[in-house]
Amino acid sequence: MPEGDTIHRAAATLQRAIGGQVVTRFESVLPKLTRVDAGAPLRGRTVERVEARGKHLLIWFSGDLILRTHMRMNGSWHIYRPGERWQRPHGDMRIVIETAAMHAIAFSVPVAEFVTSRDLLHGNIVSDLGPDPLTEDFRAEDAIERMQARGDTEIADVLLDQTAIAGIGNVFKSEVLFGARINPFTPVSELTREQIAEIVAVATRFMRANVVSGFSRTEAGGGVITYGGMRRTTGRSDPSARLWVYGRAGQPCRRCGTPISRLKQGPFARSTYWCERCQPARTLP
Ligand SMILES: [Zn+2]
Repeated sequence: MPEGDTIHRAAATLQRAIGGQVVTRFESVLPKLTRVDAGAPLRGRTVERVEARGKHLLIWFSGDLILRTHMRMNGSWHIYRPGERWQRPHGDMRIVIETAAMHAIAFSVPVAEFVTSRDLLHGNIVSDLGPDPLTEDFRAEDAIERMQARGDTEIADVLLDQTAIAGIGNVFKSEVLFGARINPFTPVSELTREQIAEIVAVATRFMRANVVSGFSRTEAGGGVITYGGMRRTTGRSDPSARLWVYGRAGQPCRRCGTPISRLKQGPFARSTYWCERCQPARTLP
């Protein structure tokens, strides 16, 4: 699943590609979107801005119309110059937004809807998001308080709770807890405020580092936004050395050499990776 950093990177790329430009053509295979387009055409509207909120990507059009998409596992936004060949099959196309200079195409996005700024303010899932470390108005104190309020929930699952802190997915969950040396199965109620503050600080550092790195242009000249490949937390660019623990079950810990452990955790049985020596538990899970 793409995490907050990738969504922010995608938003910045889309902003550069189509921000401020007039829509010359809109197309979608999603009836929910085409119905709105039929009544209040996208063509002729200006793309005012593109922004990420947690894992949601919001494209604001003039006339108070906002396209909200969520990538889940396989969704992605690509940008192409007019006439350039798509790098994913046409059958995966869900949304096309064309301007004179650039085409933005959403492939396989499972969640897409038009909303108004009023919808965003009232009762929609975006407004239930916790503070997002990748936004300028992020307040760590707010995230710490929301996390503390999760009581007996294990810290790894609290990090995945988008209403406590937004933008952290399954990869960063394990990486952040290794970075903060916290056992993933510790109920948040057993952590001190200092420990939670350290977790939030590490999460912020890792996520921000991944926003500035990343986006690469293809040989064809089009920017392709792909999810999942570039994330790193160790600061190393070698693909085999870019993460501390995620996906490394049985391999030696990069700090102490202990084989990395893996266990499915939480209501959705998401894999958690950790080092039993660097992140000891009072009682092992
Ligand atoms: Zn270790």
